[in-house]
Amino acid sequence: MAPGRVAVLGSANADLAIRVARLPAPGETLLAGGLQTIPGGKGANQAAAAARLGAPTEFLGRVGDDGNGGMLLAALREAGAGTAAAVEAAGEPSGTAAVFLLPGGENSIVVCGGANMSEAWEITPVMRDELAAASVLLLQREVPEGVNAQAAKAAKAGTAGPGGTSTVILDAGGADGPLSAELLAAVDVLSPNETELARITGLPTDSDDQVVAASKALLDRPGSGVAAVITKLGARGSIFVGDPALGAGQEAGRRTAWFQPAFPVAEVVDTTGAGDCFTAAVGARLAAGATVAEAMRFASAAGALCVKTLGAMPSMPSLEATERLAGESSEQGVAWPLQV
Ligand code: ADP
Repeated sequence: MAPGRVAVLGSANADLAIRVARLPAPGETLLAGGLQTIPGGKGANQAAAAARLGAPTEFLGRVGDDGNGGMLLAALREAGAGTAAAVEAAGEPSGTAAVFLLPGGENSIVVCGGANMSEAWEITPVMRDELAAASVLLLQREVPEGVNAQAAKAAKAGTAGPGGTSTVILDAGGADGPLSAELLAAVDVLSPNETELARITGLPTDSDDQVVAASKALLDRPGSGVAAVITKLGARGSIFVGDPALGAGQEAGRRTAWFQPAFPVAEVVDTTGAGDCFTAAVGARLAAGATVAEAMRFASAAGALCVKTLGAMPSMPSLEATERLAGESSEQGVAWPLQV
């Protein structure tokens, strides 16, 4: 069976990585130790990851008609993602992130949304066709919330995907505000990290039991269409809570929970983009027809490979390497059930 298509609607940013000894005080000018321009943005990261992981992937987003716009689209194409539906907006700046890299690995970031957050954002007819054809739609929170809601609805109105309906996955990263009811009604899978889950629900997420309880509160929120919550817990792993059929098929409505441990990594180089890699890997695998349990084990392997390399988009692993790690028949990465 040919793998289903993945559409990723979201942001693309030029990350200006500026090496500094410390942050400048107000009124002060500092000389940087170096500058690197790296393609990033949560949408572009996820599109690059899904494409690298073998999914036929289309990036739906906006860049400016400045030098960075062309660079971002070229990086996406190099990763294997389609950019025919992307918009190069005349007169608008591309999304840009000033990333101050401090000694010891800490960083401070200022994001200028630019074309990603423009009031001119609209879902074009070409984007609408891609949304209708997508088995899986990946969303994040670096574009206007209303655009995300419209995209989710357009994907759900299409007939692609297993069971004749597409799966909409929202990565909760990228914005702090509350999630709109309109968006939550059209999302199948919500994937926050534990901090985002706490913020969205107002509940503690310090223990696994608390993560399960907060996830259940989200599933039970009136008007929510969310069928499953997948919470990312960094080097520990991830927790699934919800309906393993993701709201479709004969087993729809069953509720279960499990812990997917991370694959151990001896030397962590850079965790930037690990969350994007993980969510995109879940989407790519679901589009290829895997169960959500298989998709999470695969994503756990992808996330572990991602943290071994510097940068976000450049560190997205290949399908071959991810399958090799996920397929290792050892005790590593074996999930266990949680009380739901
Ligand atoms: P986010 O960036 O959204 O907070 P995480 O840091 O939780 O995302 O990373 C996503 C996933 O990547 C984790 O659930 C885990 O599977 C994997 N991962 C992240 N950090 C590590 C690590 N240090 N070692 C192994 N796997 C990791």
